[in-house]
Amino acid sequence: MPTYKAPLEDFDFLYNEFLDLGACAELPSMAEASPDVVEAVLSEAAKVAETVLQPLNAIGDEIGCRLDEASGEVSMPDGFATAYRDYCDSGWTGLVADPDYGGQGLPSFVGLAVSEMINAANASFAAYPGLTLGAYEVIHHHGTDEQKATYLPKMVSGEWGGTMNLTEPHCGTDLGLLRTRAEPADDGSYRITGKKIWISAGEHDMVDNIIHLVLARTPDAPAGTRGISLFIVPKFLVNADESLGERNGVKCVGLEKKMGIKASATCEMEYSDAVGYLIGEENRGLAAMFTMMNAARLVTGIQGLGMASAAYQAAVSFARERLQGRSLAGPKYPDQPADPILVHPDVRKMLLISRASIEGARALGLYTGVQLELEFRHPDAAVRRQAGYWVALMTPIIKAYFTDLGTEVANLGMQVHGGAGYVRDTGVEQFARDVRITQIYEGTNGVQALDLVGRKLIANQGENLKAFFTPVMHFIGEHDGQSELAEFIGPLKDSAQLLQDTTAWVYQHMSKNPLEAGAAGTDYLRLFALTAMAFMWARMAVIACRRLDEGGGKTVFYQAKLDTARFFMTRMLPETTSLAAKVRAGAGPLMDFNDEAF
Ligand SMILES: Cc1cc2nc3c(=O)[nH]c(=O)nc-3n(C[C@H](O)[C@H](O)[C@H](O)COP(=O)(O)OP(=O)(O)OC[C@H]3O[C@@H](n4cnc5c(N)ncnc54)[C@H](O)[C@@H]3O)c2cc1C
Repeated sequence: MPTYKAPLEDFDFLYNEFLDLGACAELPSMAEASPDVVEAVLSEAAKVAETVLQPLNAIGDEIGCRLDEASGEVSMPDGFATAYRDYCDSGWTGLVADPDYGGQGLPSFVGLAVSEMINAANASFAAYPGLTLGAYEVIHHHGTDEQKATYLPKMVSGEWGGTMNLTEPHCGTDLGLLRTRAEPADDGSYRITGKKIWISAGEHDMVDNIIHLVLARTPDAPAGTRGISLFIVPKFLVNADESLGERNGVKCVGLEKKMGIKASATCEMEYSDAVGYLIGEENRGLAAMFTMMNAARLVTGIQGLGMASAAYQAAVSFARERLQGRSLAGPKYPDQPADPILVHPDVRKMLLISRASIEGARALGLYTGVQLELEFRHPDAAVRRQAGYWVALMTPIIKAYFTDLGTEVANLGMQVHGGAGYVRDTGVEQFARDVRITQIYEGTNGVQALDLVGRKLIANQGENLKAFFTPVMHFIGEHDGQSELAEFIGPLKDSAQLLQDTTAWVYQHMSKNPLEAGAAGTDYLRLFALTAMAFMWARMAVIACRRLDEGGGKTVFYQAKLDTARFFMTRMLPETTSLAAKVRAGAGPLMDFNDEAF
C-alpha cells in the first residue's frame, strides 16, 4: 500500500519565498498567520494526513459506506467516525472559519494547503468537512443573523455536517430543469418535496445533524434558472434552545455503488414535506449556491492535485525499487541483476510530467488562494475587486486543469508500476478510480471550459483577462534580457503572446457564431492553464536561480526546482502550439459531421 509524505518543504518554499504575502498584511486573518504559526499548522496537518487518514484510505475503499434501507441510516467504514471526531476536536473543521462562530479565522490559502494534504491521504474522508465548509460559506454569506447563529457554530465545530443538493434524476448540468417544490407555510418556512440524486455526504453516522442546502422552486417561480430558490433543510429540526428536535421529512433512500471514493456516501435523497428555510431572496437561489460552487470548484481542483501528489510519490518509490533492464547508456548499477526502472528515459518522462504538473499547480493554487483572501477580506474595495477578477478567471481553469492533471498523473503512476499498478495490492489503481470523479462533479470540465470562454472572457469589460496578463507582462518586462533566465522567460513570453492571439481569435469568431465558443472551450482552457503554469514555473525558476547563485544551502531543492522548470518549458509548454491550432480549426469539423452518422 502507498505511504504518503506531505510536501512540507515545498509549502515552506511557496509561503516564505514565492507568494507575495505583503499584499495581505492588513488582513485580520494574517494577524494570526505568522510564518511560525503557518508552519506549525501545516506540519500538524501533515501528521494527521500521514498517520491517521492515509491508513484509512484503503479500508474505506474496501468496505465502503453501507445503507440500512429501513431506517435510511448510512454507516461509515470502520475507523472513520473516530478519525472524524479527532479531526473536529483538533479544530481542523474551523481552521479558516469566522472566529465569531468559533473558527480560527486563518487565511483561506492555509486551508487550501491543508486540503491538498487531506485529499492526498484520503479523498473520501476529505469530502465530509469539505462539503460542510461549503455549506457554511453559503449561510455565512447569505443567511440571516438568526440562521447564522443557529447553524454556523455547530458546523464550524464539526458536530453538524453540510451538503449541497442540486442534482435531480433529469437534471445535472441544466439546473433550469429542476422540479423539487417549495410550498410556503404560514409560519414563514416552506415545505420541500422532491427527489435529489448523487448527494455527497447526504447521510452518514459521523455527525449529530446534517444541514442540507437544497435548490427548489416556489409555486409561482418563473421557469428556468431564474425561478430557483435555496433552502436550509436540516435532518433534525433545531429547537429554540438549540437542542435537536423532530426528525425532518428528508431521508436517504439509496446509496450509489460507484467506481471510486467509496467511503464518500453518494446518496439519493427524498424530501417529503420537509421543513425548509429560505436563504436570501426567492428566485435568487442559484446565485447564492454559486458562493458554494465557486469555492467548491477550487477545492475540487485541489482534490485532483492532492491525489496526483500521492500517486506520484508511489510511482517514485516503485521506480527506485523495481529492477528491469539496463540503462541504454550501459549498466548504471552493475552490482545489481538489473537497473532500477528510474534509469529509463520513458519512466523519467512520466515522473517529470507528474512532478512539473503537481508543483506548478500547487503554486498556482496557492497564488489564487492569496487572491481569494484579498477578494473576500481586504478592507479596500478596489483591491477586493481586482483580486476577484483573477479568482473569477482562474476558478474554471483550476477546477478543470487540476482535475485533468489529477487523472493524467494517477494514470501515469499506474503506468510506472506496470502490471503491479493494475492489480490492487500496490494501491495505486485506487487513485485512478478515486480521482476520476473530480473531472465530472462540481460542473463537468466541459462546462468549466464553457464558463471560461462564454462568461469569464467577456465579463467585467475585459478586466478578468487584464488581471492575468498585467502581472505576466510586468514579470516578463522585469526579467527580459537577463541571459541566465532566457530559457524560462522566452517560452513564457511566446506562450503569453500565443494565448493573447488565440483569445482574440476566439473572441472574434464566437461573436459571429456561438458554436465557436463551445468548439474552442476545452483546448482553449488547457492553453490558458499551461500559460498560467508557465508563469508560475518562471517565477519559481527566478527564485531558484537567485538562491543557487547565493549558495546558501538547500542546493538539491533549488536545483530540482530549476530542472523541473526547464522540463516544463521544453517538454510540456510546447503543447500550447497544438492547442492553439486545434482552437483555430474552429467548429466546422465538429458541427459539419452528420448527426445520423454517429
Ligand atoms: C460521486 C458523485 C458525487 C456527486 N455529488 C453531488 C452533490 O453533492 N450534490 C449535487 O447536487 N450533485 C452531485 N453530483 C452530481 C454532479 O454534480 C453531476 O453529475 C454533474 O454536474 C454533471 O451532471 P450530469 O451527471 O447530469 O451530466 P449531464 O449534465 O447529463 O452531462 C452529460 C455530458 O454532457 C455534457 N454537457 C451537458 N450540458 C452541456 C452543455 N450545455 N454544453 C456542453 N456540454 C454539456 C457534460 O459536460 C457531460 O459530458 C455528484 C455526482 C457523482 C457521480
